[in-house]
Amino acid sequence: MAARGELAYLYKGRLYLNLTNRCPTACRFCAKHAWDWNYRGSRLLLGREPTVGELLDAARCRLPDAPSREIIFCGFGEPTERLATLLDLSEALRSGQPGLSLRLNTVGLGTLSNRRDIVPELAAVLDSVSVSLNTADAAQWRFLHRPRANLAAAGFCAVCDFIRGCVQAKLETTVTAVEQPGVDLAAVAALSRRLGAGFRLRPQLVDRPQRAGS
Ligand code: SF4
Repeated sequence: MAARGELAYLYKGRLYLNLTNRCPTACRFCAKHAWDWNYRGSRLLLGREPTVGELLDAARCRLPDAPSREIIFCGFGEPTERLATLLDLSEALRSGQPGLSLRLNTVGLGTLSNRRDIVPELAAVLDSVSVSLNTADAAQWRFLHRPRANLAAAGFCAVCDFIRGCVQAKLETTVTAVEQPGVDLAAVAALSRRLGAGFRLRPQLVDRPQRAGS
């Protein structure tokens, strides 16, 4: 069966790769259902998970249209759910393609869900990591992200540890937070600084009537 849905898509001059639709969380601010799995003109619902070869072909085909030479692992799904594919694909992309910049967009639970510290493996192949943390409060993190039950209790601390580890491994590390009611964004920015990471606000894509602190 073909891997329906876009495996590679362009946005603002960058190339994005869509590895999976699996997530360890069901984030309240996620646009995938509200936007029917379309992200700004690209359909990201996969019929099945693509192979490394299929992703590589798709990336090489679209890379000439990405002037930034930046490739970002980010679709409607969490890339570290397919860690082996992410690592193999990163290595393959690097080969014969000098000057590429590789970034992972993640919810930051990869170490906890893979049951081992994945930061050294990521640091060996990536340039940067963007971690969707969204709050400085553990209870609010659980409310906003709705993690799988086995990740809920330790999740927030695990994400903070992951961020700290990425910084220590010399990955360019940015914490992001979606602008939404009830979130103390100044506190998220302060926590990012304490962890040694940069901080970036992201616009809210989907209207949510419920406050994040409720
Ligand atoms: S991890 Fe990403 S794709 Fe998955 S639910 Fe959260 S925002 Fe949506």
